[in-house]
Amino acid sequence: MVECIFCKIVQGEIPAAKVYEDDEVLAFLDINPILAGHTLVIPKVHCETLADAAPSVLEACMRAVKKVGCAVMDAMAAEGLNVLQNNFEVAGQEIDHLHFHLIPRFRNDGFRVPWPAKPYPDGELERVQEKIRGAL
Ligand code: 5GP
Ligand code: ZN
Repeated sequence: MVECIFCKIVQGEIPAAKVYEDDEVLAFLDINPILAGHTLVIPKVHCETLADAAPSVLEACMRAVKKVGCAVMDAMAAEGLNVLQNNFEVAGQEIDHLHFHLIPRFRNDGFRVPWPAKPYPDGELERVQEKIRGAL
C-alpha cells in the first residue's frame, strides 16, 4: 500500500507523535484533533475497514483501544471518552486504513455528534431485525 499515509507512518516514512506501539498496533496523536489528546489506534498491517480486517487484527486493536484510551483519559484528566470508527467514505472515512478515534471528553467541551434518533414506524423494527439476522 505505497500510497497509504498510515502505512507510511507505520514504516517511519512520515513522522507522527506516537504514544504506543506493539507488534501489531500503533497509536499516535491525530494531526487535526477534535480536542487535545485525540488519538488514533491503527493496525500495523494494512486493511481498510472492519469488513476486511482479520479478527486477530481487531483483537489487537481493541486491546490497544482499552489500554491507550484509559491512558488518554488519565493524561488529559478527561471525564469521558468517545471511541469512533468510520467505515467507507459515506460514513465519514477519509483515510482508507482502519483506525479508531479516541477522543477525550469534558463537560461543556463543545463537541456534539449529530445523532438524529427517531423511533421505528409500526412493524419496521421487526422487519429490520429479520433482515440483519438473515445477513448473518
Ligand atoms: P477518518 O475521517 O478517516 O475517520 O479520520 C482520519 C483522521 O486522520 C482525521 O481525524 C485526520 O485528522 C487524521 N489524519 C489525516 N492525516 C494525518 C496524518 O498525516 N497524521 C496524523 N497524525 N493524522 C492524520
Ligand atoms: Zn495502510
